[in-house]
Amino acid sequence: MTPPATALRNYDAVELRRLDVAHHLPAQADYGEIRDLGGSRIITRAEGCQFWDIDGKAYLDGMAGLWCVGVGYGRTELADVAHEQMLELPYYNSFFKTATAPAVRLAAKIAGIAGGELQHVFFNSSGSEAIDTMFRMVRHYWAVQGQPYKNIFICRRNGYHGSTVAGASLGGMSAMHAIGSLPIPGIEHVIQPYAFNEGFGEDEEAFATRCAQEVEDRILKVGAHNVAAFVGEPIQGAGGVIIPPKGYWQKIEAICRKYNVLLVADEVICGFGRTGQWFGHNTYGFTPDIITTAKQLSSGYAPISATIASRAIVEVLREKGGDFVHGYTYSGHPMCCAVAERNLEIIEREDLVTRTREVTGPYLAKALQRLVGHELVGEVRSQGLLGAVEIVSEPGTNHRFGGKEGKAGPIVRDACIANGLMVRGIRDSVVMCPPLIVSTSEIDFMIDTIEKSLNQCLPTLRAL
Ligand SMILES: *Cc1c(COP(=O)(O)O)cnc(C)c1O
Repeated sequence: MTPPATALRNYDAVELRRLDVAHHLPAQADYGEIRDLGGSRIITRAEGCQFWDIDGKAYLDGMAGLWCVGVGYGRTELADVAHEQMLELPYYNSFFKTATAPAVRLAAKIAGIAGGELQHVFFNSSGSEAIDTMFRMVRHYWAVQGQPYKNIFICRRNGYHGSTVAGASLGGMSAMHAIGSLPIPGIEHVIQPYAFNEGFGEDEEAFATRCAQEVEDRILKVGAHNVAAFVGEPIQGAGGVIIPPKGYWQKIEAICRKYNVLLVADEVICGFGRTGQWFGHNTYGFTPDIITTAKQLSSGYAPISATIASRAIVEVLREKGGDFVHGYTYSGHPMCCAVAERNLEIIEREDLVTRTREVTGPYLAKALQRLVGHELVGEVRSQGLLGAVEIVSEPGTNHRFGGKEGKAGPIVRDACIANGLMVRGIRDSVVMCPPLIVSTSEIDFMIDTIEKSLNQCLPTLRAL
C-alpha cells in the first residue's frame, strides 16, 4: 500500500515529534509515556479505509478513526460542501431566535431518518456535549412538571458516555472516575450486560433477566419517583464492543415504562448504520425517548453531534419549560451541518446501512469464526461492523493472562499495529470498527492480521 503520490508532503518528522512533546497534550494519554516515546505517532494522509503515518507506513483503519469515519477517507464532495458553505456563511449561531439553513435542513433530515416520535434535534459539537444536553434536558423535563427530585440517572458500569463531567460520571469507568473526583452525585451504576465476564456460562435469557432485575431493584431502592432516566449504549463501544444478551433491551424498556423512567439510548457509536440498521435501537427493537448521536453523523469530517428528543418531551418543554438556558457557541454550526447532511446523503446513496446488514456485517461475523478454536481466543462476537475477539489464557475459559484483566489486549493490539492494522485493545479484547465502506478483502486482511499477531504474541503472553 503506497500513499497517493500527489499527497506526499515533506513534513519534518523529527521536528514535529519534538514539538509534540514540547507543546501538545494529546487526548487520553500518559504524558510521561509520550515524552519517553519521543512523541506520538503522527498521521499524515488517508484514503478509503487506509491511512499513512509520517514515516510512510500504511495501516488499514480497523477503527474508522475513532468509531466515526463511516464513509471512509478522501471524500472530495465533503470537502467541497464545507468549502462552499464557508464561503456562503462560515458561521452563525442558533442563540436568540436565529438559525441557519444547513442546521434546519439537517434537523429535518435526521428526524426523517430517526422516524417515529424522535422528531426534535439539538446540535452540539461532540458526543460528550450531546450527553450533557441530554442530561440537562432530562432533569429540566421532570423539574418543570413539578418533580425536581426525579433526577437520578441509572447507567451501567463500564459504559462510556464521553469525557465531560456529566459524560464521565454517567460512564462507568473507574479509571475515568478517578480523574477529577467523579462521578457527580445522582448517578447509579448497575451491571453491564457483558456475558463473557459477568455471566460466563450462564443461560443467555437468564443473564438478560438478571441484568434487568438489577435495574429494577435499583429503581426500587432509590425510589421510582427519584429516577429520571436509564442511559445506555445499545452496544457498548469503548467498553469493549459489548453486545447485550437477547431480550436485554426489551426487558429494560419494560422496566422504564413500568416506573415512568425515561429511556435514553447513547447512539454515538451505533448511530447511522454501524449495527446494520440506522440506529442501535432499531437493531434491538426498542423505542427510546431520547437518543444521543455524533461520530458517524459527519463521519468525523466535522465536529458535530445531535441530541434527538421525542415529541412528548418537547411538548412538555414547549408548554412548561420556559427558556431552555443551554447551548453552545457552535450549536448548529453551518459548515458542520452542511457536511453532516452530505455525509448522510452518501450513506443513503451508497446504501451503506443495507450493505452493512446484508453483506459486510455477515462477512465479518463469518471471518471472525476462523479464529474460533485458536488457543488464545475465548470468544468472538460482532454485530454489523462492530467486532471483538476475547483473548484468554486457557481455551474454553475466561481466564486471563498474568491472572489479571487487561494485560493481553494491549500486547496483541501493538502487534496488530506493527503489522499494519489499526485496532484497539480494550482490557483483553481486540476490537474493531472499520469504515462502513470496508471491502470483504479488507475484512479478510483484518482477521488474518489479528490471527498472525496472536500467533506472534504467544510466547510473550505465555511468559506473563
Ligand atoms: C465517543 C462517545 C461519546 C463521546 O463523544 P465525544 O465526541 O468524544 O465527546 C459518548 N458516548 C459514546 C457511546 C461514545 O462512543
